[in-house]
Amino acid sequence: MITGHQFIAGREAPCDHAPFHAVNPATSERLEPAFCDATPAHADEALRAADGAFDALRGATPETRAQFLDTLAAEILALGDALLERAHAETGLPMARLTGERGRAMNQCKMFAALLREGSWAEASIDRAQPDRQPLPKPDVRRVLLPVGPVVVFGASNFPFAIGVVGTDTVCALAAGCPVVVKAHPAHPGTCELLAHAVFKALRQTKLPDACFSMLHGRGTEIGIELVKHPLTQAVAFTGSLRGGRALMDVAAARPTPIPFYGEMGSINPVFILPGAIQENKAKLAENYVGSVTMGVGQFCTNPAIVLGLQGSDLSSFVESAGEFAQKAAPQSMLHRGICESYEAGTAVWSTIKGLQLAGQSCTEANSDATQAPCRIYTTTLDVLESNEELRREVFGPCSIIAQCPTMEDMLNFARNLEGQLTAAVHGTADDLREYAPLIRVLERKVGRIIFNGFGTGIEPCPSMHHGGPYPAASHSFFTSIGTSSIYRFVRPVCYQGFPDDCLPEPLQNANPAKSMRLLDGSYTRDPA
Ligand code: NAP
Repeated sequence: MITGHQFIAGREAPCDHAPFHAVNPATSERLEPAFCDATPAHADEALRAADGAFDALRGATPETRAQFLDTLAAEILALGDALLERAHAETGLPMARLTGERGRAMNQCKMFAALLREGSWAEASIDRAQPDRQPLPKPDVRRVLLPVGPVVVFGASNFPFAIGVVGTDTVCALAAGCPVVVKAHPAHPGTCELLAHAVFKALRQTKLPDACFSMLHGRGTEIGIELVKHPLTQAVAFTGSLRGGRALMDVAAARPTPIPFYGEMGSINPVFILPGAIQENKAKLAENYVGSVTMGVGQFCTNPAIVLGLQGSDLSSFVESAGEFAQKAAPQSMLHRGICESYEAGTAVWSTIKGLQLAGQSCTEANSDATQAPCRIYTTTLDVLESNEELRREVFGPCSIIAQCPTMEDMLNFARNLEGQLTAAVHGTADDLREYAPLIRVLERKVGRIIFNGFGTGIEPCPSMHHGGPYPAASHSFFTSIGTSSIYRFVRPVCYQGFPDDCLPEPLQNANPAKSMRLLDGSYTRDPA
């Protein structure tokens, strides 16, 4: 049963003004019930409640928080087909994709539960006192990472489960001990509500306060700005467009007390084709490339939007093959009408650019009533790509440009002038990698993840994952939004000097019952201090 209410610390606030509905992008059908924009009073209530619950959440044992996360995974699954069907109706994403993404969201909960139980993530560091040290005694100094307080989360439209109400941002903030207020995505509000129920059920089963979590609806900018500006908000996690991310990042920085804003935004994810790759299997490479461009109707922040190769007959036949695969790709429904219109507008601007040619597009005509987008693969010269900024901006959808570079040095120069990116892919042989090592050195300064002989689409949430990159791909290049390290966005180090053992946070006490890895007098160990 979906109510359309705001969910504030377990209290349901009914919809009372400015109603809006979700729309099925594949049928244009209006979906019941109505949802309403939350008010500034709702935002204030949610953040006061979150602040009030902070001590209880951070004071809960790691085991209690781990049990909450395991229970949340079970409650997401317990929503059953109702969750998948509502998400399918609101996003148009296929059931198989949604089933896979639900599994990823559940695994993320379990991954953070395991992290909490192991305990080393808190980076406890202990330097014991040396009262007899000469010429001055050394004090007892200990440091650990502690949660920052209430966190506001904005999810994107394209990952309703894995980057949304129960996505990594929410899950790792709660794991760290930070209460969360989520701004529900207006394109899938019913899905958001179902997931909010799962969070409250898991909180109640593990006896954590309802006030650890709130979820507010809202279209447009007002409620989001209110949440970011609120004096009790201590950090913000945002996934979405550069336009939205930058606007909110500026709001966070302009507060009387600025707060960290972790924005994961768009990217063009360049692909560099080195000579060995293009000689080996052009048709297979073209098939995989178009497969990556059309995956999820191109609605991935890691979509390969620009490919660079050395001009010549090999690249020309790669372009030809890619064009043929594009023709075979059937148009698919995008997430919502706004995204589909932006795709058409973006590629319409491209089509006016002299020197950009269409290498191929879906043969089947797109049904605009069903917000379908055709695949479009373009080709041009490096010169045209470099002199038209529009071609180097993200157009969210199944389109991509193959640029022909006169020399490898030109390709390298393009890389040197790149803005920050989430990913870059390099295709070639191992010998190519050695020969063109300077390209990798340049990419290390430009991107968060470098992929060899693959594409950036498909992200593995694991400890070694880094999903982020220099601005404008992300607002802060030091942090990832996916994988266990994402927890470091919501903690900060606190140092204790001269404290009695029993007054220290548990990870710093001598006994170390969790046997987590700690830095003890400069050496890593799981031993007691
Ligand atoms: P979006 O339009 O930026 O929306 C994201 C959320 O932010 C929505 O709740 C939106 O609410 C809110 N918002 C946007 N602008 C705002 C503003 N100026 N003030 C207050 N709130 C604002 O993004 P989207 O269409 O959902 O997602 C597509 C984009 O996300 C693509 O650019 C894609 O590359 C990016 N993305 C990035 C990642 C990553 O990990 N880097 C992952 C997935 C997607 P309203 O809609 O009501 O404005």
